[in-house]
Amino acid sequence: MSTSAEWIARDAAAVWHPFTQHATWTGDDPVVVDRAEGPWLIDVDGRRYLDGVSSLWTTTLGHGHPDIDAAITAQLARLDHSTFLGTTHTPGIELSEALIALAPKGTGPDLTRVFYAGDGSSAVEAALKIAYQYSTQTGRSRPKFVRLEHAYHGDTLGAVAVGGHRLFHDAYKPLLLDTIGVASPGDRANGRHRGAVAIAELQAAMRRDGDQVCAIIVEPMMQGAAGMFDHDAAYLVAARELADAYGALLIFDEVATGFGRTGKMWAAEHAGIVPDLLTCGKGITGGYLPLSAVLAAEHVYDAFLARPGDTAPRTFFHGHTYTANPLCCAAALANLRVMGEQNVIGQAARLGERLGKLLEPVAAKPGVLEVRRLGTMIGVEVAAVGERTGFEVCRAARERGVWLRPLGDTVVLMPPLTLGDDETDLLVSALDAAVDEVLG
Ligand code: PMP
Repeated sequence: MSTSAEWIARDAAAVWHPFTQHATWTGDDPVVVDRAEGPWLIDVDGRRYLDGVSSLWTTTLGHGHPDIDAAITAQLARLDHSTFLGTTHTPGIELSEALIALAPKGTGPDLTRVFYAGDGSSAVEAALKIAYQYSTQTGRSRPKFVRLEHAYHGDTLGAVAVGGHRLFHDAYKPLLLDTIGVASPGDRANGRHRGAVAIAELQAAMRRDGDQVCAIIVEPMMQGAAGMFDHDAAYLVAARELADAYGALLIFDEVATGFGRTGKMWAAEHAGIVPDLLTCGKGITGGYLPLSAVLAAEHVYDAFLARPGDTAPRTFFHGHTYTANPLCCAAALANLRVMGEQNVIGQAARLGERLGKLLEPVAAKPGVLEVRRLGTMIGVEVAAVGERTGFEVCRAARERGVWLRPLGDTVVLMPPLTLGDDETDLLVSALDAAVDEVLG
């Protein structure tokens, strides 16, 4: 028995994995990752796989980056953990300043305040609660959120309530907040974008219920977990205008798109639109440690400051034990430093262009329905020829030394932003051969 087989047997006896059907889990021959080097994962039997999805869309600089390793080690020697309740600490302050300096600029308010959380979902929870409390503290309670069809904002109940991914979310419907669902501008119905339809639907929803809406929440430019549904900047322009016209906040969820993934620091920059609240996570620490944040506009923050004559406290009663953990903040600071010094955004934009070119012949294959891409955020949708076609393509790529994951029948490519040319070639050639094997 290989070492992997032994570990998988122990795993099967003790572990419950996320998003995993355990009746078939071991049959899928899971990879038991032992270590990683740059963009490579290495399993306990010594097999190497190019990590084509940056772990879970997070390891933007690859694994084992010396600067991030050193920053975490140095921070560990000073302060491992301390609470943000009643105390503060230097990496948390420095990171907040760095994030504010990097925040998107354009139509909309400057983002001047940082609230931390632990992962993407908890950043979304915080943003939703901030938006609702903002409404109560600036006028009157507006208990509804506008959410988009196919949206994915995480797995906690608030985040699920503003989601629109039927497979992931329908089971929890009876538990959820009351929301207003509108069409997705990236919907592929009839093989066409539905940007104009979606804008019209958002306008109608706001005309009807706008006075009930505390926030509109959008994954800007690309709905990731939906299967990489990109949309036009015009939708974000319309969402900004409508939020302003009806006194609602605009939330951009940049958990997947932030930190260079789309070829710019923020997806919002493709449209020149700034939201009132921006959630981010994933690549913030280069994928090393769990950290997320909500960037907030000053007018939102200001509504939480006590005023003479208040009858209720304006405090945001929300936070977690590990909020702004110093090790995570130190990793994030090192990541942002490397991103700046090595022009990682420029590298990401070039890598995206190169991938786009290399994928042209793949897109032309009869079994490939569409290749959707913004920067290095890519979905390759294949025609279903069985129950798990996307999965089978990923399995065939794995046999060629490339690790990929599907979203349904869309194969996701989200490599480290600094991937070298040879590895990029391997990534696409393995996908190309895998598509031929499964759909040829
Ligand atoms: N929002 C978006 C847009 C995401 O893509 C994700 C995760 N894929 C989340 C929120 C949730 O983040 P996490 O898994 O870190 O809770």
